[in-house]
Amino acid sequence: MRVVIAGGGMAGLVLARGIAARGGEAVVVERAAADRRIPGPIMLPFQAYDALDELGVLDPIRARGIDVPPLRNGRPVSISVPRQDVVEILREGVDLLWEHELVDLLREGERVVGARVRGPDGERDLPAGIVVGADGTGSRVRELAGIPARTRASDTAFVSFRSPVHAPEPFSIAFLSDGRQVTLLDWAGGSAGGWQIDRVPGGAAEALAPGLDAFRRAFVRLLPQAEAPLAALSSVDELFYREVTEVRCEAWWSPGVALVGEALHAMNPEVGIGSGLGMGDAQALAIAIAATPDDPDAACAAYEHWRRPAVAPYLAVGGTASKVFAGGRRPEEERWPPA
Ligand SMILES: Cc1cc2nc3c(=O)[nH]c(=O)nc-3n(C[C@H](O)[C@H](O)[C@H](O)COP(=O)(O)OP(=O)(O)OC[C@H]3O[C@@H](n4cnc5c(N)ncnc54)[C@H](O)[C@@H]3O)c2cc1C
Repeated sequence: MRVVIAGGGMAGLVLARGIAARGGEAVVVERAAADRRIPGPIMLPFQAYDALDELGVLDPIRARGIDVPPLRNGRPVSISVPRQDVVEILREGVDLLWEHELVDLLREGERVVGARVRGPDGERDLPAGIVVGADGTGSRVRELAGIPARTRASDTAFVSFRSPVHAPEPFSIAFLSDGRQVTLLDWAGGSAGGWQIDRVPGGAAEALAPGLDAFRRAFVRLLPQAEAPLAALSSVDELFYREVTEVRCEAWWSPGVALVGEALHAMNPEVGIGSGLGMGDAQALAIAIAATPDDPDAACAAYEHWRRPAVAPYLAVGGTASKVFAGGRRPEEERWPPA
């Protein structure tokens, strides 16, 4: 069975590699151009290790990263690694159509039998046993297949920065009085910091209005390890405000369509395991397809049967993790932007 995967992010690429490694056929359609570069680091969590190890890429990825202890079974709990390096390693050998956007699903009756894609040379149809939505939170595949999803803007957002100056430790975190996080991650390109704040109605303009100096002082008060990295910034334009969308789907598949990664479940980045869950989904689906290569529905049903219970505990806390720690009133110095 040929599998068409919409989305060349980490989940889609792990799926394509997993199918090919089992003798199957997979093609990835990615709407971005081949020269897109994804800035900054990711904390690649231990939940990704099995899928990456199986593909023989965990060690090469770890070699490009920094271990974030504590050690678990001789391995770090996560690896701080450039996002671009991870996708470049995962892309090797993948049949990938760049600048191709999935724009429609092909149907025979109720069943999806392929995808219509639009590329630089126009539209064409790609027949498939299964079309996989690995196309992120706003999944077009999910929408076209009519798979219901609850999407919600998280009540938290992040103000983050990247600095060329390294952090003194691989990873530092301060939990605020209400359980929210202030973090600093070391990586090959320097360091990256983030402050989990309340989503503000005025977006970036409101969140960044107090300016770089005020942010620097407030952040360093909460996480002194960030002093040197923040001192290297020279403009408020080096701060980013980012809101977060959370996604939950009751159904994981419909005839001829399956979802993986953030198209299926996106949680607040405070949990720090999104990529690992997506790669685990991809591995499970690749195994299921190889087990019943001529029966897409059986493969999708097996995928959901195995994988849903493994993901359920994370989804139970994801997006509300801070509430697990929720304590008392948040003091003024922990509030951003300040009143
Ligand atoms: C701010 C932030 C920080 C995060 N930090 C971490 C972290 O530290 N650790 C961690 O494990 N996870 C983290 N995550 C989550 C992590 O980024 C994702 O889980 C991971 O990137 C895998 O996502 P994905 O492959 O499912 O989707 P995506 O990475 O969103 O990839 C989807 C791909 O589909 C393509 N696409 C979309 N629509 C179409 C279409 N119609 N046709 C063709 N292509 C299409 C897009 O261009 C994109 O390349 C973070 C997320 C956010 C938002």
